[in-house]
Amino acid sequence: MMEKIVSLAKRRGFIYPGSDIYSGLAGTWDYGPLGAEFKRNLKKEWWKSMVQLRSDVVGLDAAIMMNPEVWRASGHLEAFTDPLVECKVCHARLRADKIDEIKTHEEAGHKIEGKTVKVEWTEAKKFNLLVEAELGVVEGQKQKIYLRGEITQGAFVNFENVVSSSRVKVPFGIAQIGKAFRNEITPGNFTYRSREFEQMELEFFVRPQDAEGDKWFEYWKIQRMDWYKSLGMDPSKLRFRKHEDDEKAHYAKYAEDIEYEAPFGWSEFEGIHHRGDWDLSRHKMQYIDDQGQKFTPWVIETSGGVDRSTLFFLLNAYRQDEKRVWLSIHPKLAPYKAAVFPLLPNKPELVEKAKGIYDNLKSDFMVAWDDRGNIGKRYLSQDEAGTPYCITVDFETLEDDAVTVRDRDTATQERVKISELQNFISSKLG
Ligand code: ATP
Repeated sequence: MMEKIVSLAKRRGFIYPGSDIYSGLAGTWDYGPLGAEFKRNLKKEWWKSMVQLRSDVVGLDAAIMMNPEVWRASGHLEAFTDPLVECKVCHARLRADKIDEIKTHEEAGHKIEGKTVKVEWTEAKKFNLLVEAELGVVEGQKQKIYLRGEITQGAFVNFENVVSSSRVKVPFGIAQIGKAFRNEITPGNFTYRSREFEQMELEFFVRPQDAEGDKWFEYWKIQRMDWYKSLGMDPSKLRFRKHEDDEKAHYAKYAEDIEYEAPFGWSEFEGIHHRGDWDLSRHKMQYIDDQGQKFTPWVIETSGGVDRSTLFFLLNAYRQDEKRVWLSIHPKLAPYKAAVFPLLPNKPELVEKAKGIYDNLKSDFMVAWDDRGNIGKRYLSQDEAGTPYCITVDFETLEDDAVTVRDRDTATQERVKISELQNFISSKLG
């Protein structure tokens, strides 16, 4: 299944390996024409549900490069580490908690001068995951900084800015989408573990009381799970998983992941974290309520991965039968909402009519144009792109001003008046 998705993603322009023509750069990926649209739609839907439709959440777009003091205060310089073991024979480094990978490596063994050598490991050592960069132009005087390892800190260091410049009152949230970078030791499973990736996060600030913390933690858990389901993720492939005490991040009071049953096993793609007052107190940020009471709010965080969600939505959407492969993507996420075809490319009256429809629709929706090959081939091509509706202009159209609309999932066709097309597509987008 992973092979099918990786190959379709590249062939159709969803996702390419990063720096492909120079043998790649491990853990980086480029989103092609379809992937860029898909990701944009995913982020748009997230923003709509987390910011636009809520009066208690505001947005933020903080810088990727921050003063290194941020990372010292947040604890990432000390704690953002994975314990690794190193194979004494080939020097491969693996995460000490990935027992299966360690076993596979041992079983594969090593051959030196024809003899099998038993794999031995070093003691586990910690490596920092923050990616370093240098800022400045004068050699020797450059400032060492870190590319943000999570987008989260931007919301915390701006907490007081947001409170004083907007009308928010606790409980309220700050939402953000943006890139994060981690020196992952073992990037892999396609985009699942990348070194550059995008996060979509909410930091929701509540009064520092157990009942408040618990209430909002439960609330956001359900909201986030429902959001994935509302966009078509198969509920039987979704579950919550509580973090055990020894796997919790340094900042977490408690945490649960939303996991998807991927071909490589149940895997986290969003975490709901109770961060307590860890971050705001580290950054010495406080809140004063209407009664003049000063306190450090607690934070409930929902931290999702745009790339992991994209991968899981693609896996979730993959369908195949004897005749075709199609991506049953929710119309809201589909890169193109519709494709427009003239039945025959060499009949100017059909082409002109179809172009008129295409030009009209494209001011409201992303629509594709295709006049190559025959209709059957165009259907197959749009099916793989996940386009929910194909609109064909045929000779009858010239008589009745109606077109044939073919549904991606059922392959059924219906006649729709040209004047109704806008409404038809809008109604499917919900
Ligand atoms: P893991 O245990 O898989 O390394 P994590 O618990 O470190 O993940 P968080 O720090 O909670 O992840 O990050 C929140 C979200 O950011 C994750 O649920 C995931 O969707 C995304 N994310 C984290 N690391 C990566 C990565 N290396 N590649 C792609 N997405 C990532």
